[in-house]
Amino acid sequence: MGSSSKLLEDVKQHLCTCAAGLKLTPDMEAFLEMPMRELYVSLPVHMDDGSIKVFKGFRVQYNEALGPTKGGIRFHPEDTMETTRALAALMTWKCALHKLPLGGAKGGVICNPKELSHREIERLSRAYIRGIYQIIGPDRDIPAPDVYTNPQVMAWMMDEYSKLAGKNVFGSITGKPTSLGGSAGRYDATARGGLYAIREAAEKLGINLKASRVAVHGFGNVGYHAAYLAKKLFGCKVVAVSDSKGAIFSANGLDPEDVSGYKHSTGSVLDYPGAENLTNEELLELDVEILIPASLENVITERNAVRVKTRILAEMANGPTTVEGEAILNSNGVHIIPDILCNGGGVIVSYFEMVQNQSSTQWEEGKIQSRLERQMKEAYNSVYDFASKNNVNMRQAAYTLAVGRVVEAMQLRGWI
Ligand code: NAD
Repeated sequence: MGSSSKLLEDVKQHLCTCAAGLKLTPDMEAFLEMPMRELYVSLPVHMDDGSIKVFKGFRVQYNEALGPTKGGIRFHPEDTMETTRALAALMTWKCALHKLPLGGAKGGVICNPKELSHREIERLSRAYIRGIYQIIGPDRDIPAPDVYTNPQVMAWMMDEYSKLAGKNVFGSITGKPTSLGGSAGRYDATARGGLYAIREAAEKLGINLKASRVAVHGFGNVGYHAAYLAKKLFGCKVVAVSDSKGAIFSANGLDPEDVSGYKHSTGSVLDYPGAENLTNEELLELDVEILIPASLENVITERNAVRVKTRILAEMANGPTTVEGEAILNSNGVHIIPDILCNGGGVIVSYFEMVQNQSSTQWEEGKIQSRLERQMKEAYNSVYDFASKNNVNMRQAAYTLAVGRVVEAMQLRGWI
């Protein structure tokens, strides 16, 4: 089975596990196992050399019972409809868990942005919006950034949507630059939210964050900010970080800002002065208190879970742990902060961006951070309390709360 269908299989498995506790009928479960709407698009793009290349893209609107759907857009060579569908399901449960008035969606384009010029990425971003224009909009479905897309890409997408609509529609996309209706605090929201959850977990487990070692798998938008904030907010020692080319380790701790500068100038974290090179696999098996997967799905599996030594696994990536990997971690007593809980900060602040766009206002960063902190704290504790009370693990608790809310909305709307 390919890794993309594995993620989809696992997301369905988590739904199935919580369905019994929620006493869902087979019909209800069957409905929740399928997206409500899917679109495949072919995107012809004029390349810099004069040729035309046709890219394949997707948009999945998984469930809109709680509100307009919302979810990021991924530009990745290995993207598939199955991955997009699984990520759209995760967005649905995530929005519900964090009590946002939103459904879940996801989008993607099969491409390698590292091989495209700035202008080619712009043309591709605009082509994608033209392809999905009919099914998105501030009251329908609001895209945002994900892997290998960023605020500049969101600015082009919002501009293209606005051109097609014949007016400025800033609320059509979130994760925009702040000068174009983007929200203060969106750039580090996913990582910051994850760290607030880590702080709650550390308190429950009696872990002293100041004395904690942290390893971060994936040093992109989420991973970099997670490393930076772990050191800045809590004084943790960031002993290892990695990117797609490999990992680096320093027992004395790394300076994430300096490593980021180095990565920007050399293209990778590898060979960072004063650190030891490791493989990505070795990073996952380091003796640390906190492990933060922040790259892609399926990195902790039945093959390596037994060697994972962390006390807290903070899933800032979507779907980093397989069902089989998780069973091993659970039996070894690793405290998992599941993805739909841990990385909800991104969509929470994207929701704040929507609210600001609707009222043409801009909130101060401090207000955004304190609201984010309150919401993450509340979400973490509701999941933790549910898990303790019902003797289920953190993921089952998170799914049960989230799916229960979507089911209630569908019942109240008379869908089921
Ligand atoms: P990004 O593109 O900024 O960074 C991805 C990082 O992963 C890069 O450093 C890349 O080098 C690294 N990577 C890729 N393949 C790897 C591999 N095989 N081994 C190790 N590292 C690898 O993406 P991002 O926005 O930081 O997203 C990372 C994860 O967080 C994804 O799972 C995404 O779905 C999830 N997420 C992102 C947001 C957000 O706000 N951006 C919100 C919620 C969840």
